[in-house]
Amino acid sequence: MPQSSQILPLNRGKVGVRETQEGSSRRPINVDGIDQELVEKMVYDALAWSSIHGLVVGDRSVQRSSTVPGVGMVHAPFALLPMPFPKSQLKQAYELAPIFNELVDRVSLDAKFLQDSLSRTKIADPFTSRLVDIHSKMLEINKKEEIRLGLHRSDYMLDEQTKLLLQIEMNTISSSFEGLSGLVGKLHRSLLSYYGEFLGLDFKRIPDNASVSQLSAALARAWTEYNNPRAVVLFVVQAEERNMYDQHWLSIMLKEKHNISTLRKTLAEIDAEGKLLPDGTLVVSGQVIGIVYFRARYTPTDYPSESEWRARLFMERSSAIKCPSISYRLAGTKKIQQELAKPNVLERFLDDKEDIAKLRKCFAGLWSLDDSNIVRKAIETPELFVMKPQREGGGNNIYGNEVRETLIKLQKEGSEANASYILMQRLFPTVSPTFLVREGICYKDGVVSELGVYGAYLRNNEKVILNDQCGYLMRTKLASSDEGGVAAGFAVLDSLYLT
Ligand code: ADP
Ligand code: MG
Ligand code: MG
Repeated sequence: MPQSSQILPLNRGKVGVRETQEGSSRRPINVDGIDQELVEKMVYDALAWSSIHGLVVGDRSVQRSSTVPGVGMVHAPFALLPMPFPKSQLKQAYELAPIFNELVDRVSLDAKFLQDSLSRTKIADPFTSRLVDIHSKMLEINKKEEIRLGLHRSDYMLDEQTKLLLQIEMNTISSSFEGLSGLVGKLHRSLLSYYGEFLGLDFKRIPDNASVSQLSAALARAWTEYNNPRAVVLFVVQAEERNMYDQHWLSIMLKEKHNISTLRKTLAEIDAEGKLLPDGTLVVSGQVIGIVYFRARYTPTDYPSESEWRARLFMERSSAIKCPSISYRLAGTKKIQQELAKPNVLERFLDDKEDIAKLRKCFAGLWSLDDSNIVRKAIETPELFVMKPQREGGGNNIYGNEVRETLIKLQKEGSEANASYILMQRLFPTVSPTFLVREGICYKDGVVSELGVYGAYLRNNEKVILNDQCGYLMRTKLASSDEGGVAAGFAVLDSLYLT
């Protein structure tokens, strides 16, 4: 954990916890008042609970921990107590999920919009270019996706100044932590059902979170639509994956609850072992693939050679359901997020005025680097902006002084390179103290949180079969850290304490 301000022992002597402001909806949990002995007990219990319930990731200090399940496990980093969050804003985020699901579907159908919006980005960014090329190839062969499955996650922060729930980004690929996020809620419920009385906290205020069962049910429903009892679900994974247990939660649910088999393969393995039958059926290791579910290939390092791109392309050409298809993938890029925030663009895709208003309300400021006024402002006050390339998985954004330096450099070069970035208004959520537990050690520090809401969308031709929210992910990170990924080591998993 980077630069934590305080490591146990903590504030010995302060006993008991009261709400800081009676009846306040802001701060029902006063971590400064919690007795150190109580913290130690809770940490111990939480570590034991995590180990026996599968709230685990691969331990980076053990060599085979990212390839062999059951070897070298460590508890996933978590917050010791749930994070207070307004009930009304969770409801708002849940209501947005089906609207975003529909938006992604509509945008994905507008090939011209996708191609035009990404035309300059693709010149500047070779990774986006490869993705757009696959999209172009599918247009050339007039590829139709009759069964369309989206498992998305829209992420938000609560902006302190405006009190608004504002969207950080929309993930249409590899929306992770659906397995572990529900477990953190269960962990917190377990802790509060025992210690809640001492803390003045009620475990019932932690909302149920059934992401993994809802998302596996969505995969199962899509599999049914594919309508081949022999078909399996292919998990496209990275060769080394410390977050494999999160994925295993999903595949075990598919097996145990829905009697559907899964296959885990890397892109290189798929290239070597996969084939496309003349009727479009995708076969990998002799098994018919009903759904290609991507938990990799969202970043350039997933494509070290041409064989990975080849595998990507022939899977796209197949009749298997892709989660996501290339057009869903492109609809989730940061460039498209920025284009959708322009005036009158949402209207092109959605009819319902109220839906449009709801989406717009959660959009933060988003700009292309063609906007010279904004570029000037960002050079003057870089701390108010985040600069984002077309990447996923955390650790890629540019903050603070580096925003200024990069913008000046791009201006000097006068190149097309600026088209690979977007600028976004930097959000400032409320900073509050909390306990973070990582590798068995508890830290207290000032943190901010990011709420993700999963969504599932399934359509077969004109029939919309599913369009719903599928629970939440709460990630909490040090306020001093710019980025937020749990796997990337910036954040911990958390749950909500509704206020
Ligand atoms: P990625 O697709 O890599 O996850 P994100 O857009 O989610 O990219 O950015 C990564 C992290 O950076 C987020 O989890 C969040 O912590 C932080 N971040 C992104 N955008 C903003 C913003 N506008 N204001 C403040 N923090 C942001
Ligand atoms: Mg993302
Ligand atoms: Mg993100």
